[in-house]
Amino acid sequence: MSRSILSARADFPILKETVNDHPLVYLDNAATTQKPELVLQAMDDYYRHYNANIHRGNHALAARATQAHEDARAKVARFLNAEDPKQIVFTRGTTESINLVAYSFGDAFIHEGDEVITTQLEHHSNYVPWELLCQRKGAKFREIPFDENGELNLEVFKNMLNERTRIVALNQVSNSLGTVNPVEEVIRLAHAAGVPVLVDGAQGVQHLGRDVQKMDCDFYAFSSHKMYGPMGIGVLYGKEKWLEAMPPFLSGGEMIDSVTSTKVTFNVLPFKFEAGTPYVAGPIGLGAAIDYLESFDLSELQAYEDGLLQYGLEQLADIPGVVIYGNPKQRSCIIPFNLEGVSAYDVGILLDTQGVAVRTGQHCTQPIMDALKIPGTVRASLALYNNKEDMDALIKGIHRVQKILKR
Ligand code: PLP
Repeated sequence: MSRSILSARADFPILKETVNDHPLVYLDNAATTQKPELVLQAMDDYYRHYNANIHRGNHALAARATQAHEDARAKVARFLNAEDPKQIVFTRGTTESINLVAYSFGDAFIHEGDEVITTQLEHHSNYVPWELLCQRKGAKFREIPFDENGELNLEVFKNMLNERTRIVALNQVSNSLGTVNPVEEVIRLAHAAGVPVLVDGAQGVQHLGRDVQKMDCDFYAFSSHKMYGPMGIGVLYGKEKWLEAMPPFLSGGEMIDSVTSTKVTFNVLPFKFEAGTPYVAGPIGLGAAIDYLESFDLSELQAYEDGLLQYGLEQLADIPGVVIYGNPKQRSCIIPFNLEGVSAYDVGILLDTQGVAVRTGQHCTQPIMDALKIPGTVRASLALYNNKEDMDALIKGIHRVQKILKR
């Protein structure tokens, strides 16, 4: 039996904090989510009771820690519906996962004159690694533009795909506009042209479907800290045929099979891509976050979060002087806006004085801001513990900001 989403709030100790003498209203979830008790306890338990380095130890603590680390990998594989746990590579986060592919896949398969397609809706993490790869290799960097609703123009994409295209990289959900991108359609079109696709799931994994076999993506990247897990741990899923064919990204201990002064052979998947002592507590915490997220029914969660998003967007649209950006057919958990004539930064600071935490600026998406011809936005972003009262506090806060600025 799934738990009611309305009970989630009590699981997060930090939500009882006060900020600037106001109860905390945390609406910066796209930057990072808060952590439930279950995750805090799992990590505390590891450090208190079985902290040890893993894989090579032959004592009881090492065996227990290794088991917990590899159980977490199996849990991630099941969570993503991956075919096998060996397709799950632990990284520091989405950024490192994408860099791994850009360097490793890029090294092996991208050459002068080839083309890489990403989109104008990407976080810098899924843009800059490809741009730099293209510069290193003399390849062409191309981006699918977005339209006035903040949606990708797939007609342009269809014309972009050609025999020189080597990879397509796009996000499941835009962290700036909240656009839910048609990843399955993009993958279908790319595959028809024989091109693999990397999906940046950083803003999708915690809110939407994450079935990598259904999506049929070649790579899927996400960060634990945006889905109620600890910071500093993330995942790269890859199809086995690609991971096997790709050279290691980082080298050193753990990723090798045999080392001499003339020859190095590599460990099997996924260890080939996990050089050095891993962040053992990270996957353990991530595993607990998966248990937590899966204690709720996914379609109920989506309906709840969508309802809250619509409520917030409608309330905000009613305030004179508010500009909301993008109007995609499907938007997930992101409210991007500005107050006419006021810098986003000032709005953020004034909301903070009322205990409301939002993010302001470019949100690591300068190409989006350049296309919209604005320096930045205020971004309120939702998680499963937010409620109508949080939305009301945001709206009340904005009214108050307008009043203060009118004085
Ligand atoms: N991709 C998207 C869509 C994001 O929203 C973010 C972070 O905000 C990232 C990538 C980078 O994630 P991380 O900083 O955890 O590596």
